[in-house]
Amino acid sequence: MSPNSIDRIIVAGGGPTGLIAALSLANQDIPVLLLEQQDAPQDHRRATTFHPPTLEYLDALGMVDAVLDDGRITPVWQFRDRHTGVVAEFDLSALKDETKYPYRVQCEQMELNRALYAKLDNHPNVEIRFSHEVLGAEQDGDSVTVRAKTPNGEESFAGRYVFGADGSRSSIRKSLGVGFDGFTYDEKVVQYGTTFDVSEAMPDIAGVAYISDPDEWCVILHLPEYWRVTFSSRDGEADDVAVRDDVAEARMAAFFGKSGAVVELHRNIWAIHQRVAEDFRKGRIIIGGDASHINSPMGGMGMNSGVHDAVSFADKMGQIWRGEADESLLDRYTRQRRHVALEDVRQQTIRNTKFIAEKDPGERKNAHDAMRAIAEDPQKSYGFMMGSSMIAGLRAANALD
Ligand SMILES: Cc1cc2nc3c(=O)[nH]c(=O)nc-3n(C[C@H](O)[C@H](O)[C@H](O)COP(=O)(O)OP(=O)(O)OC[C@H]3O[C@@H](n4cnc5c(N)ncnc54)[C@H](O)[C@@H]3O)c2cc1C
Repeated sequence: MSPNSIDRIIVAGGGPTGLIAALSLANQDIPVLLLEQQDAPQDHRRATTFHPPTLEYLDALGMVDAVLDDGRITPVWQFRDRHTGVVAEFDLSALKDETKYPYRVQCEQMELNRALYAKLDNHPNVEIRFSHEVLGAEQDGDSVTVRAKTPNGEESFAGRYVFGADGSRSSIRKSLGVGFDGFTYDEKVVQYGTTFDVSEAMPDIAGVAYISDPDEWCVILHLPEYWRVTFSSRDGEADDVAVRDDVAEARMAAFFGKSGAVVELHRNIWAIHQRVAEDFRKGRIIIGGDASHINSPMGGMGMNSGVHDAVSFADKMGQIWRGEADESLLDRYTRQRRHVALEDVRQQTIRNTKFIAEKDPGERKNAHDAMRAIAEDPQKSYGFMMGSSMIAGLRAANALD
């Protein structure tokens, strides 16, 4: 592929969404130029939950082993009350006739990123440029021009289309000129990684547990080498204080009642939001992943839906590239993926966040009773698992015209 050829797709951003889009396009013999602002693959700890449809897509791309080998297979997950224990438990093995992967996998998103970069590095249809910060994109009737800050100064890159997967502050979304409406939660999430065996303090805990409490809620995820414990930020506590060693140790020891037993490995703090872009496409400029929607991490859906966006976009782009469909197919991408973001992921993650964080005693009781009733009824439980595993939402979206 000539680096200056216009016959290529430019992908802005090399997170999970951009990398999956690049690989899916390249596998269809479509040349790709990927521009990433960092000088190396991202290595921060964010997503860990992979849902069944995502595992199926990774399987189709020959990438599922990257997640299965480095991850922990987790068929059972729970909603809990901090003091009374399990409120509702869901065993995804019940979905074995719906999916080849009837479980969640807990694996760091950076492990998938590393494997994808390694795969793309050797791909004849892909050129990756690190240290290229995309500044914006313009378009005319048959091409796009993407401007980027590079080690050689500002440069322009031409292509047929650009897929903006450049994260929540997306420059490509700004070039589209669309709103990113929604809200930001008052509280942030504080994550601690620990080798302390949480099951010593909570013997019946599942590998994924959302623990409700009006004063101190918590999410616990069991990864292969350690446990990740997520709290909300505390009123008036500065970010740098929340992630200090002594503060982390004290908070963990108090929560688990195991003073001195806590070894923490990493600490992060993140703001959380619910926002969906007004449109995902104008002409030759398309956005996906966090560039187009961001949500609370409760339910583990942001990265998963970014991967689904990437696959949906690449599949449609392939049809257009080969002359099997016209460009209006990209409007279907927006209709399908925006529908999931608004009607599925947003609703579920708001519900989960409310379940764990609700302070009003009446509302809390209602939320717990409702969840208990779902778990106790096999039919409702099945439907709930189809939704929370992202299977039902994806099928509904894919059926949209
Ligand atoms: C605490 C927390 C826990 C989470 N847990 C889960 C989970 O369990 N499951 C789940 O599905 N989701 C989860 N998420 C959400 C998930 O991390 C994101 O949805 C996911 O990273 C989005 O992937 P992306 O590729 O769209 O964006 P990003 O991962 O943000 O990647 C964007 C990439 O673009 C690059 N970039 C940015 N700007 C530019 C630019 N101008 N030019 C070039 N490159 C640029 C960045 O460097 C980055 O490499 C969680 C989020 C948080 C905060």
